Amino acid sequence: MNLFLYNTLHRKKEEFVPIAPPHVGLYVCGPTVYGDAHLGHARSAITFDLLFRTLKEAGYKVRYVRNITDVGHLEHDADEGEDKVAKKARLEQLEPMEVAQFYINRYHDAMRTLNVLPPSIEPQASGHIMEQIEVVKQILEHGFAYEKNGSVYFDVEAYNKKYPYGTLSGRVLDEMQAGSRELDGRGDKRSPFDFALWKKASPEHIMRWPSPWSVGFPGWHLECSAMSHKYLGKEFDIHGGGMDLIFPHHEGEIAQNTACCGSASARYWVHNNMITIGGQKMAKSLGNFITLEQLFTGDHPMLVQAYSPMTIRFFILQAHYRSTLDFSNEALQAAEKGLERLMKAVRLLEKIEPASVSTVDVADFDTRWREAIADDLNSPIAISVLFDWVRIINQLHDGQQTIAAADLDTLQKSVRELVYDVLGLQDEQSGNDQERLGGLIEMILDVRRQAKANKDWATSDKIRDELTRLGVVVKDRKDGTDWELE
Ligand code: ZN
Repeated sequence: MNLFLYNTLHRKKEEFVPIAPPHVGLYVCGPTVYGDAHLGHARSAITFDLLFRTLKEAGYKVRYVRNITDVGHLEHDADEGEDKVAKKARLEQLEPMEVAQFYINRYHDAMRTLNVLPPSIEPQASGHIMEQIEVVKQILEHGFAYEKNGSVYFDVEAYNKKYPYGTLSGRVLDEMQAGSRELDGRGDKRSPFDFALWKKASPEHIMRWPSPWSVGFPGWHLECSAMSHKYLGKEFDIHGGGMDLIFPHHEGEIAQNTACCGSASARYWVHNNMITIGGQKMAKSLGNFITLEQLFTGDHPMLVQAYSPMTIRFFILQAHYRSTLDFSNEALQAAEKGLERLMKAVRLLEKIEPASVSTVDVADFDTRWREAIADDLNSPIAISVLFDWVRIINQLHDGQQTIAAADLDTLQKSVRELVYDVLGLQDEQSGNDQERLGGLIEMILDVRRQAKANKDWATSDKIRDELTRLGVVVKDRKDGTDWELE
């Protein structure tokens, strides 16, 4: 498979050639663990899950590193300037790590529900303080950082004299400087464009570590430099994240990597676009902030119903990862219907009887969806190919077309590979079937309890024997009845 990816660094689609095949190093900026996962998290996770799955299907051995930001970046979100995790910990008398773990567990639950595969390594920023301090030391040694009052800042101007700053975002430092007014309150920084590598902790800051400069904590961009280097090496294949991370986060990362080690680290930079709601950015202040849990339960004023995890996944995959995706109830309802039609055909395909000749061209399906995915993960095209074949599968079932045994086998395998392995969809119907079956058995056992209460032993025994015959083992206990499937 010749996979093409849009490389943000060069602003064009490029053929993906790994540094050391069959190994591929993939680093993705993961969640900041404060608050529940929302649609934006789902889009990024599902985009890179699609990439991870595609690489694996292509036969690569992928080391997928997705970090967890549990220190450093959090302070930027706080209204009061205090790190949010630290504040909650202080108010609720918890260890900061208890707060972080609480949100990590919830994030993992949400990802599992969305059938997002876990990464190979999931490092936490707080567990890599020593590695981050090492990077700061290197940058200082090479003259691209300075210390002031216990904090260390990256010297963007000094860096820009030797290396071009802004290669990823296309921002030019001179223009940035010309466009900025004289800034007050830049504190210890020499220039407003400099960013913190290490911050001295204020007295109320709980998450703090000793360093050569002060007791403090690392700057946000630093963790990704340190952890990608540690687990993937100074040069690796793909770095991913949301488009909102291009500047300043990823630009900062490239500058740090180059200043520290002379290499920008990743060869391909892949960025997913954002989710909007009614054309607006999602934000707590706009009241249009919907968590995944709220989507799954329907518990939000903007939602007219609950949406299943696979509906969300399908909705996200129906758009190309580089296009914006606008949320609306109508769009999700359409995704729900589409997915239902699709899964019905996938189930039907398993029941089709082969004929002696094929009137359909199975290679057409297989070639077209593979080409779509190889073309910068074009999942909407792959899905439209699937829908062409939903129609054909229905025709095969109705006898309007026929398929030979070998072709049927190829088609079934190809559909399973695309639907389950690459797109990562699950048949939620089978889960519902289990639920329905359980409900039915409980209902029948209730009738039996009634019969026993009426001393109608003949009916009670008949029900038990019939259930046993159907593979449902009934065990009477003193205080009720247990059952299990054989
Ligand atoms: Zn990052």
